[in-house]
Amino acid sequence: MTDQMIPSCDPIGCAAAGCTATVCTGAGLASNATMFARSKAVIPGGVNSSIRAFNSVGGEPYVVARAKGATITDVEGTSYYDLVQSYGAVILGHAHPAVTEAITAAVVDGTSYGAPTPREMKLAEAISERVSSCERVRLMNSGTEATSTAIRLARGATGRDRIVTFAGNFHGATDALLVAGGSGVATLGLPGTAGVPNASVAETMVVPYNVVPELNDQVAAVIIEPVAANMGVVAPVAGFLEGLRAECDRVGALLIFDEVITGFRLGSGGAQAMYGITPDITCFGKVIGGGLPIGSIGGRADIMEYLSPLGPVFHSGTLSGNPLATAAGLAALNQLTPDVYIELQARAGRLAAGLGDACASAGFAASFPIVGTLVGMFCGSAVGTVQNFDDAKRTDEAAYSRFFQAMLAEGVAMAPGAYETIFVGLGHTGDVLDAIVAAAHRAATTAVSRLDKR
Ligand SMILES: *Cc1c(COP(=O)(O)O)cnc(C)c1O
Repeated sequence: MTDQMIPSCDPIGCAAAGCTATVCTGAGLASNATMFARSKAVIPGGVNSSIRAFNSVGGEPYVVARAKGATITDVEGTSYYDLVQSYGAVILGHAHPAVTEAITAAVVDGTSYGAPTPREMKLAEAISERVSSCERVRLMNSGTEATSTAIRLARGATGRDRIVTFAGNFHGATDALLVAGGSGVATLGLPGTAGVPNASVAETMVVPYNVVPELNDQVAAVIIEPVAANMGVVAPVAGFLEGLRAECDRVGALLIFDEVITGFRLGSGGAQAMYGITPDITCFGKVIGGGLPIGSIGGRADIMEYLSPLGPVFHSGTLSGNPLATAAGLAALNQLTPDVYIELQARAGRLAAGLGDACASAGFAASFPIVGTLVGMFCGSAVGTVQNFDDAKRTDEAAYSRFFQAMLAEGVAMAPGAYETIFVGLGHTGDVLDAIVAAAHRAATTAVSRLDKR
C-alpha cells in the first residue's frame, strides 16, 4: 500500500525531508480499517504488543492519532474516554504539560549518549528516596528487562537456580517466567508459550496466589505482584505477604516484588509501603517513565552490588537511563505528591462504585474490586470472592467482550481483555468519571439485551 491510498492524511511535525509521518483527522478517507490493514501487511498481527489486536474481545482496534488527558482520538477523528492509559504508564493523563515540557526541554540536548548523565542519577535518587527498600537502583528500558534482570541477579547473588512464581501473575515477556500453570496446585516448569525451551522454565515453580508456598534451600527467589493486577485486580489476603517474607527468610531465598504496575501507582512507596513488607529486589516500569520506555530494579545494596561492573552478574543497555525517559519519569514523579494519591484513590473509589451501580441497575452482573487506586472488573454472577487465578477465571469473558464493545460504541475505551486493570489518572476529572458511568449504564443495558437474544 502507498500513502496515496490514505489521501486525507497530512504530514505532521516533519522537519526532515522525506519524512512520511502522517496524521489523519476529520471526515477524511483515512480509517482505522485501512490503517490497520496497512500495519498488518508489515507488522505481525498489526501490533507491537499482542493484546492490542483485540483477539480476545473481537473486532479490530482503533488506531490512535493522538491523546490528551483522559481522551484518545483515533485516525478517523473519533474520541474516547480512555481507561487503558497505556496500561497504567501515563498516570498523569496523556500529554500532561509537565511531562511534555520536560521531554521538549531535554530533547534539544541529545537523545542518547552512552555515558552517565545527571538526570539518570536524579531519577535513581527519586526512586530510592521514595521506596526505602531501594538502596541502589539500576535503570533499564522495560518492565520485561527489569524482571529478567531481577531473576538473573537473584540467581547470581544466591548461587541457586530455582524461581517460584504465582499463577495469574504477569511479569512481561521474560522466558523464565513464561510458564504454564494455574490449576490450584504447584507445578514445575512447562513453557507457557511456543519458543520457550523446557530448559528455560525447568527451574521455575508455579504456585497458587495467596497461599504461602513451602520453600527449600534450592530457591533463589520468589517473584510476585504484591497486588495482582494482571488477572483482574486481586488483593493479597491478610498475612500472605508477611508469610511469604518469613518463608523466604527461613530458607535464604530473595523476595522480588514486581511493582511494574503498583509502583508509584498505589502511592509513592508502592505496594510494599501499603502493606509494610520489605522485598529484597523491586521491579519498576510503567509510571516511572512518564509514558516513555523504561524499567528499573532497586534493592538492598549488598544484593544490587552483585550487578556488573561491581559484581559478577552482567547487565547492560545501549539506551538504559535514556535522557528523554528519565526526564519524563522525573517530571511524572515530581507531580505525584501525597495529595495526588489521595485524589486518585477517591476517583478510583468513585468510578468503581459508579460502574457497580450502573451495571447492577441495568441487570448486568459484574463486580469492580478496588485496591487503592487500582480498579478491576469481573463479569458474571458466578465469580464470588477472587483470591487466585482459578477464582479469576470464573469471570465471564464473553460478557466482558459484550460490555467492552458496548462501551466502545458509547465512547469509552477499556482494555481489550477480561483480566486487565481499569486505570484512573489525573485526566479523569469528576465530569469525565460521570460521563463514563453514564456510558456504562447504557453499555450494560446493551450488553444485557444482547445476552437475552443469544
Ligand atoms: C507491564 C508489566 C510488566 C512488563 O513490563 P513491559 O514494560 O511491558 O515489559 C511486568 N510486570 C508487570 C506486573 C506488568 O504489569
